[in-house]
Amino acid sequence: MSADSGDYDALIQFLYQVPIGLLQTELGGEITMINPMAASLLMPLTRAGALINLFDVLDPFAPELRAQAAAHTSPGNAVGDRTLPIPVGDRAQPGTLLSTLGLRLVLLDAQTWMATISDITQAVHEEEQHLQKRLHDQSRSDELTALPNRAVAAEHIEAARAHAATSPDGLFAIAFIDLDRFYRINTTRGQAAGDHLLRLAADRLARLVQPGGRIEALGAHGLLAARLEADEFLVVARQVAHRDVAAQLAKKVVDALGEPYAIDQQPERVSASVGVVLGQRDAGSADALMLDASLAMGEAKRAGGAGYSLFDPAMKLRAARRATIESDLRGAIGRGELAVAYQPIVSLASRQCVGMEALVRWHHPSLGDVSPLEFVGIAEETGLIAELGRFVLNEACRACVAWKRQFGGHAPRSVSVNVSRAQLLGTDHTEQVRQALESSGMNAAALQMEVTESLAAQDERVQHSLHELKAMGVTIALDDFGTGYSSLATLHLLPIDVLKIDRSFVMQVESSEHHRVLIEAVILVARSLNMRTVAEGIETEEQASALARLHCAKGQGYLFAQPLSRAAMTAWLAEGRRSGGAP
Ligand code: C2E
Ligand code: MG
Ligand code: MG
Repeated sequence: MSADSGDYDALIQFLYQVPIGLLQTELGGEITMINPMAASLLMPLTRAGALINLFDVLDPFAPELRAQAAAHTSPGNAVGDRTLPIPVGDRAQPGTLLSTLGLRLVLLDAQTWMATISDITQAVHEEEQHLQKRLHDQSRSDELTALPNRAVAAEHIEAARAHAATSPDGLFAIAFIDLDRFYRINTTRGQAAGDHLLRLAADRLARLVQPGGRIEALGAHGLLAARLEADEFLVVARQVAHRDVAAQLAKKVVDALGEPYAIDQQPERVSASVGVVLGQRDAGSADALMLDASLAMGEAKRAGGAGYSLFDPAMKLRAARRATIESDLRGAIGRGELAVAYQPIVSLASRQCVGMEALVRWHHPSLGDVSPLEFVGIAEETGLIAELGRFVLNEACRACVAWKRQFGGHAPRSVSVNVSRAQLLGTDHTEQVRQALESSGMNAAALQMEVTESLAAQDERVQHSLHELKAMGVTIALDDFGTGYSSLATLHLLPIDVLKIDRSFVMQVESSEHHRVLIEAVILVARSLNMRTVAEGIETEEQASALARLHCAKGQGYLFAQPLSRAAMTAWLAEGRRSGGAP
């Protein structure tokens, strides 16, 4: 018994000394036991030091507590599922927070509350700080790559501007980076592989800009690499030693990102297009600078990617024109602004017209005639190419059938229609061709599709599409041959009937022995592969006869005829028939 009472005394002693407030109350809150810690925590809350009823004391700070407790009837359970925070304010100054107490209230039995109370001011404060920091971090770094985000990049640029504004020859540089055809990785290897590649690219950029890294070595300081969104990144140098550093920096980025990647143990290649702006004293806002850099990036991309371009103000004019073209092209077909012009393809021996190439034309109401070199690319980027392509194809087939009806044996035997990569990748292109043939009543063998060399050689899906066309009986011409990547050795892999030798070679057939030999080789290989050849852009009699001597069978160019409207071409054909088939 004495041992028991000794244990009880020890327990009470212990409870009195623990650095946590303990108290027991009756159901209504009248305090029956309280340890010094609880007393010291609660005393400052009382009016005139009256520590009699717990609920009375806490009422000004936690008005619902009494009701919460009253609703609580099962012994052993606590009020609330965690410590109740009780914010303690200065009663003289409402709205101020002095401290926070943590209260745990447990119903011991039908008569008694047991409470623990502690000062959690510090813990609450730390928790808040932690939350703030996380929020701050989240709003400042990119989740996927952990690189700083656009907001941080913008601050960095503003800091660079501020510095340049005060130092007469202060220069800074901004490089806007976009991966070339990044979507291809997402579509062929899946989103996870795409994310992986973005992280690897981000790591390379982070390494490039680290202290002692390759960009600092160029004489660039205050470096930052950030991710803007998707496959867009930014590198900012708050200070560069001289103007040339901007281009050198861009080149380092292009080189580093162009190295092969390994994704799931499989090699992957992706190149980057970079636009750089050199900033100085009078530079515009961070947003304006980023926009300038992105315009320069767009030009690098259109130049074929895997390179960089330096911003120059003329790019803004070009971008504005592109924007006009882009928005106006949308309705141009509906408004009847597009037309098809035809250029004859002639036999170099007889000068008879053997075929026609259909070339799209756009007369813009305010810009005048816009070259297809300018708007076909935009149509591809915006997806309008499908509609444009269908229009040209239908027009060309109808014209060809009409000429056949009108001129019989003197009509051009075939019509050539240019197709672009985006069209061949579209799922319904073959179907579109089938419909055009059907609705015009044209024989498939009279239709020729021209694809540019660079795209046919590279892409398997393009090749598949070409085989489908070929199976329908359509013939295929490889356009602009000599400007792309396919070598003579790989030509036999493509389902090609005709090689069109690019104008850049034809122009030099007389002046350059090198070009003459190349043309001769191309013609020989083509013949051995059963392909025919057409020389493009023949402008002089000398060129025509030089090509004829090299056994090029057909030619096309201003010497024979400019591209003409359908009506003008009909008249030209009629004239040719009158003059005995050799216009
Ligand atoms: P391309 O298919 O190589 O067409 C030949 C281009 O050379 C045409 O330019 C033609 O007008 C021009 N040309 C013909 N003979 C001569 C000559 O003797 N001297 C010179 N200097 N040029 C000559 P155009 O009509 O401006 O077309 C440019 C390119 O736009 C075409 O090159 C083709 O790649 C593309 N394109 C034209 N129409 C279409 C179309 O309907 N669909 C698609 N996808 N692309 C098209
Ligand atoms: Mg062509
Ligand atoms: Mg061509």
